[in-house]
Amino acid sequence: MRRDYIFADNFKIDPYWWEAARPDLEEEFELPENTDVLIVGSGYAGLSAALELQRNGVETCVLDTEALGWGASSRNGGHVSGGVNIGKTSGLPAEMIRRMIDEAAAAYDHLERVIEREEIDCFYTRCGRFVGAHCRSAYRALERRADELNSVAESGAVMIPRDRQREVLGSDYYHGGMTVDLSGALHPSLYHRGLLNACRAAKVTLCPYTKAGRIESHNGKFLIETTRGEIRASQVVIATNGYTGDLTPWHQRRVVPVASYIIVTEEIGRERVRALFPSLRVVGDSKRVLYYFRPGPDHKRVLFGGRASFASKPAIETASRLYDFMCSVFPELRGVRVTHGWTGNVAFTYDRVPHFGTRSGIHYALGCNGSGVVMMGYLGHRVALKILGRANRLSVFEALDLPDIPLYGGNPWFLPLLGGYYRFRDWIDRTFTV
Ligand SMILES: Cc1cc2nc3c(=O)[nH]c(=O)nc-3n(C[C@H](O)[C@H](O)[C@H](O)COP(=O)(O)OP(=O)(O)OC[C@H]3O[C@@H](n4cnc5c(N)ncnc54)[C@H](O)[C@@H]3O)c2cc1C
Repeated sequence: MRRDYIFADNFKIDPYWWEAARPDLEEEFELPENTDVLIVGSGYAGLSAALELQRNGVETCVLDTEALGWGASSRNGGHVSGGVNIGKTSGLPAEMIRRMIDEAAAAYDHLERVIEREEIDCFYTRCGRFVGAHCRSAYRALERRADELNSVAESGAVMIPRDRQREVLGSDYYHGGMTVDLSGALHPSLYHRGLLNACRAAKVTLCPYTKAGRIESHNGKFLIETTRGEIRASQVVIATNGYTGDLTPWHQRRVVPVASYIIVTEEIGRERVRALFPSLRVVGDSKRVLYYFRPGPDHKRVLFGGRASFASKPAIETASRLYDFMCSVFPELRGVRVTHGWTGNVAFTYDRVPHFGTRSGIHYALGCNGSGVVMMGYLGHRVALKILGRANRLSVFEALDLPDIPLYGGNPWFLPLLGGYYRFRDWIDRTFTV
């Protein structure tokens, strides 16, 4: 039920991040007739690929249906993760998961190098993360995960039992949890803006409000229809993640778009924020339908995210539910109003692993499974290295095929049912599991 008293007078359904860096509305460009590489999607994946290619002398053109960066890359929570969840529920062999954790740590290094090299001012801090256990058995699973993270990637994972939880989180909601030092926070749209500026400086052709349509292959080259005319390209990269449509049905059948939602409180002051986040870490949890939350970059507000609905709904309708989730963790926030609430899409794969690769000559980087600030930029970069012929080792994220999803044709009608089932399982865990 919508409750209007939770909304501040100036409530907006745009991402809070857009106050500092709104995806650019205008860009002067002419769609070229030819390019070496055409990239569909202007988020972290598309821009990271474009930057590497153009800097190495490959003419690159990036298209987006909307403004540049309009997708998840300017809407996310800004949690920077070094592989805390990677491969967790994939059912893949332990050795494969260890390789993923190892490469996720390399991806984290990559992100830090890019921020430093491009001098991107995006409030990046390696503040660490707390993962709350939603029940005691989840705490035991986190213990095993901490051992794995430390032995493979020296992630600095430490278990925090419930009686010490208030050292890291001003809440008794969880049954203890795990802190991970190889984690951080950033301002997502400022980070995106930094990548965009680097692409502009490198002379990537950037084409907002240009939707890619049919892709035809002729003698090893591609002809792509767009809403602004046709373009020929030697190579095509699909970097559309949670917004993957029928442009490439093969990919569409392999990634399920899932909406995620975030609300932001009005300013409550640094002292109150410190009381809730004593170590200023970002927080996630072990539930199937997880909460993720953090202090704002100025440490004066709280940002709280989660899957408030499994049907795609306007953010204003889901804000009340998210507000209740937030107050279940921090009861003292009841009465505080929210200034922003928004939604965006992530993309899930059948094996819950992100992938890149090439299919029928078309390259792709897809399937963030909820965590793409580090991973999607890294995968975009890896696609570029592959095109340049400079990849010096096989990535585990390329070694695995992007799996088919049984009976899925691209319409995620089953999500509300599946989401309800997962929520029920979380409730059972919290209520009955010892
Ligand atoms: C609410 C929310 C919270 C999140 N929180 C976190 C977090 O805290 N930490 C984390 O690691 N990850 C988080 N994520 C995930 C992360 O934001 C994404 O994984 C990442 O931004 C994906 O980047 P991308 O470049 O692959 O895709 P996107 O940034 O989504 O870009 C895809 C683009 O493709 C464009 N497009 C689609 N079809 C076409 C077409 N036919 N022609 C032209 N353009 C097209 C779209 O318009 C879109 O702009 C979150 C995501 C959401 C939505």
